[in-house]
Amino acid sequence: MSHSPSDRGAAPAPDPYSPHTGDRNLHVERYELELACKLGGNRLDGTATLRLTAVPGTERAELDLVGLGVHRVSVNGKKVAFKHRHARLSFPLPAHHAGAPLEVQIRYGGNPGPRLGPWGDVGWEELEDGVLVAGQPDGASTWFPCNDTPGEKSAYRMSITTDAGYRPVAPGALVEHRRTSSRETWVFEQEAPTAAYLATLQIGRYRPRPLGQAGAQGTPLTLYSSDAQAARALSTFSDQAALVETFEAAFGPYPFAGYGVIVTPDELEIPLEAQGLSVFGDNHLTRAWEAQRLIAHEFAHQWFGNSLTVRGWRDLWMHEGFACYAEWLWSEASGSAPLRERARRAWGGLQAAPQDLRIGDPGPADMFDDRVYKRGALTILALRVELGDERFGPMLRAWTARHRHGSVDRALFEAHLLAHAGPSQDPLGVLRLWLDGECLPPFPQP
Ligand SMILES: [Zn+2]
Repeated sequence: MSHSPSDRGAAPAPDPYSPHTGDRNLHVERYELELACKLGGNRLDGTATLRLTAVPGTERAELDLVGLGVHRVSVNGKKVAFKHRHARLSFPLPAHHAGAPLEVQIRYGGNPGPRLGPWGDVGWEELEDGVLVAGQPDGASTWFPCNDTPGEKSAYRMSITTDAGYRPVAPGALVEHRRTSSRETWVFEQEAPTAAYLATLQIGRYRPRPLGQAGAQGTPLTLYSSDAQAARALSTFSDQAALVETFEAAFGPYPFAGYGVIVTPDELEIPLEAQGLSVFGDNHLTRAWEAQRLIAHEFAHQWFGNSLTVRGWRDLWMHEGFACYAEWLWSEASGSAPLRERARRAWGGLQAAPQDLRIGDPGPADMFDDRVYKRGALTILALRVELGDERFGPMLRAWTARHRHGSVDRALFEAHLLAHAGPSQDPLGVLRLWLDGECLPPFPQP
């Protein structure tokens, strides 16, 4: 696709759910982050090298960076003047770059902390003894300069130097580990395209323990926890290999090279999903269904959210609906309760809740409302009832295969559903009923 400067008027608008982040004129192909993190004093210093392309005619680039100071910005090796205001870092691009790849290097640092906004505290968080990053939806910029919009996916290389005795966990494969007397350096490579909010960093006194290998590709499963938590954690996650088998049968092959679960010593209100990783709190270490359903939920996000990522936050039901539906699948497969019983209970809860939310466009303030999750899952069940199991299963596996590591939206899903529907079936009518109306439709019955 070619653009002339006059095309700039047609440049893609920011995500209306998060208009304060992201620059859709830019595409970052690769981030290389050299980070030094001193845990005592919570100090982070970094050099970020971004290989990016810009729509031809783009004169300035804008990246997101919150709460940290910028020391120097260079483009293709040349120092440039920059502005850093209102959490946006802007700098000029060379004239006539014509969409050619550019190398942008940013030196920055400070005392990172969470971003305060419409979704509470998001991003970098100090733990009792370590660091946690909760990037969704707009918190990635609390620890590195980035193009923070979910439709933007990039490769990552991260080098993290931190206090000896601590272990950082980040997406991808650990490719290098060096030690000096008081510091250790850990290098991770993630080639699979990753949205900035899923490019996490967790630091703690974590020790890896294998949870086995499972699935069609023998995906290695790893638990990261403290020694003190290891026994409880191993028991809590003892079904992880069976989860892989169940979800691969329903959703298709696991989309990444490995999967890790991290257990923080702190309690966490909710677990977090990241690329190839999930993060749980000490309070989630139990065999009780309330914890097991979250383990299934976060794992399902690897397909729905991490491999197939929405272009804009409006379509978040496409992540959360599938992840909640996956909880019910696992409930049935693990012998806890039949899928329809779980679904019926969720439907009852929605019936008792205010029916004033359109989950297909809930608005940014309500995008994490529990009704988006539960009604989203019932939307998936309603599609299954409409298509029948013989069509629904292949449709779903073709969906994850076709858009593996890509960006999706409702229009793509609708076209896909139509291609898999029988002559008298109306999956788009089902979507309109469940996504665009406020009133709760009847429970989906075959
Ligand atoms: Zn979720």
